Order: sequence, then structure tokens, then C-alpha cells
Amino acid sequence: MRESQRIKLIRTAIGKVEKSANRKEYKCMYPDCNLFSIKSHSQQKRHQLQSISENSRIYALNNSLYSIFGDDINELLVEKTIGEVSRYKGYCNTHDTNIFIPIENGNLNINNPEHNFLLLLRAISFEYAHKRDMHYKLTELFNKIRDFTSYDILKNFEEHKRGIKLFLDKDAPVYMNKLYDIYKSRNWSKISYNSFSLNRNLGVSSTTCFSPLREKHCEWAVNNLYELQPIISLNVVPEYNKTSVAFVWFSEFEKSCDEFIKINKDQENILQLLNTYILCESEDTCVKPSLWERLNQSERYEIYRHMSSSHSLSGADSVPLLLN
Ligand SMILES: [Zn+2]
Repeated sequence: MRESQRIKLIRTAIGKVEKSANRKEYKCMYPDCNLFSIKSHSQQKRHQLQSISENSRIYALNNSLYSIFGDDINELLVEKTIGEVSRYKGYCNTHDTNIFIPIENGNLNINNPEHNFLLLLRAISFEYAHKRDMHYKLTELFNKIRDFTSYDILKNFEEHKRGIKLFLDKDAPVYMNKLYDIYKSRNWSKISYNSFSLNRNLGVSSTTCFSPLREKHCEWAVNNLYELQPIISLNVVPEYNKTSVAFVWFSEFEKSCDEFIKINKDQENILQLLNTYILCESEDTCVKPSLWERLNQSERYEIYRHMSSSHSLSGADSVPLLLN
């Protein structure tokens, strides 16, 4: 088969998989709720995303499978409308509204423990829904392209899928149970956080989870195969003239979170530090268009290089500064 013909077949398969994933319905994540989830925003459209949009547009990560196989492989950040980004199928309309109402509409108080808990709940729910969707897409795509795709590509594919499946089957259900226990008991002492506000709009918005062990995570995972993986959430919530930044984790992961307990909003390199976490660890970054457009091509590729590496690269402090 000619290469051009093969690429055409892959693109057709991706189109079909994206369509069916878009139509696929999931039950609400709230325990014992039988309603179907809606497409919620993990980052609020009003206030948060609006505050960094220009003509209702922002740059956001390209989550389409085309970005893995397509011609636009190099463009990880693409221009989108604020209605399109940070959507996830997590909760039914009732639960999405009732659970998160305390932190909606500009009411987020970064010193309030319940609010910090809700940011953690939303970030892990988003991660869970995102990985569930990705696993479905990869499984469907694998079945459609296996007959005309090289062994090496299929092998990579399978490994990637296996990692996601492990998270979905092993870690995610445990995190979710812990979260709903805390939610129902309102025992906020089971979470810890280091959260603060900066008195400017950083031009970037993000809701994400990652391993607080960062580059040491792989080594840890090999030695602790059956342990629950430590996880930390990062929420960056810009508003008109300030930005709230929240690092939140389960208290039981305290000893893995040293690096994050120490962060102080007045430290000299705070912007570079946040820039590194946002760009290297987030799968849900949204950026103000004029901030992204002011970077030259080599700065953009340097950022992509850090974004697409599955582990933090050495020299991460040299990630070009995107934040305002
Ligand atoms: Zn529900």
C-alpha cells in the first residue's frame, strides 16, 4: 500500500472514531446516579475563560487524534472558541450544578478548604473522564487501523492504552471513592493545599492533575507496583485583575508533595515556576491569543517539546516564559 493511501485511510478512521466518541454517552460520576453526564466545563466559561479570551477565542491543547497521526502533528495548541474547550463528560446537569456552585461565578475563595476540595474534585473528575474518552478512542482506532499499520506503531499504541487502562481500573476508582467520602463527611482535613492569589491576570487558565513525584515518578512506579499513585491537582483560575493558583492533594500523599508545600507566591522565580508546571504537566491548558502569538516559532517549538514529553525534561526552567 502506498504511504499516501495509508495516511488517507488513517484519517478516515480517525474521523469516524472522533464522531462516535462525541456521541458516546457516559453515566454521571456521582455514586448511584443513573442519569447521563452532560458536557461540562472543567474551566468556567464566564469569568475564567472569558478573562483570557480575545473575540471569544483562545488557544487550547489539540486533543483530537489527528494531532497524533495527522499532518498538523506539530501544532499542539490551536485556536478555538471558549465554548469548545475544557469540556468533559463527568456529571449530570443536576450534580454538575449543585456540587460546584460554591466556586462558580467568581465566588472562588482560595483560602476556603471546601473550595480547595472542589478544585481537587473537579481536576480528578476531568482527568478520569478525559482518560476514559481517550481509552475508548484508542481502542476503536486500533481495531480500525490494525490491518494496515506497522507493528512498531501498534506496539506503541498498545503500551499507551495499557497505561491509561491501569489508571482507569486501579487508581481512578480509589481516588473517586476517597473524594466522595470527603464530600459527604465534609472532613476537609483529608486534603492539604498550598493556594494563593497573584494580583494580575496571568493570561493562562488550567485544570490538571499530575504526579507530584514528576521526573522521579517512573522509578517510584517500578518499586511500588501495587501502591496507589500519588496525585496532585493544579488549578490556575484567571479573573479580570487577579489569578488564583491552587495546588491541592490528599493529605496521605503529604510526603510526596514537599516541592509543592514550599512554593511561596513572593519567591523571585514564581512566574517561571508556574510557567513550567502549567506547560509541562497540564493536558488542559488555555492561553490568551496575543500571549501565544507574540512568541516566535522556535519558542513555540521549545514549549511543544516540553509539552509532549511524558516526563519532565531536564532544564525545564528554560521553558520560554508564556505567562503575562
Ligand atoms: Zn448525577
